[in-house]
Amino acid sequence: MTTPTPPAAQAAVAPLTPHQRIVLRDLLHQLWCDRVLDITTLAVRFHENEDSDVAARLAKVRRHLVDVEAALDRLESGSYGKCDGCDRRIPFEQLEADPQERYCRRCRS
Ligand SMILES: [Zn+2]
Repeated sequence: MTTPTPPAAQAAVAPLTPHQRIVLRDLLHQLWCDRVLDITTLAVRFHENEDSDVAARLAKVRRHLVDVEAALDRLESGSYGKCDGCDRRIPFEQLEADPQERYCRRCRS
């Protein structure tokens, strides 16, 4: 016996496949490496010359790194890819473009 699929479920975004999860984990890992490198470079520059622009960029990159780490934690815990606003799944294409995204397009706008 099969259960008919309700229309709301048909419109829902499909769960991430194992391959998509690997792609997104690799993207997040690359972002993590890039941000750590940025922080190191900016920290050295700030050490040489305490420029407020460098300090502002450093703070921004650190926030991005925290977002990337939080996304990696969500990927480990199984809560990755769900919108913080409406609890719906965020489409793979949106996550691929912005892997640390926490909101679907509807909640973002
Ligand atoms: Zn949402």
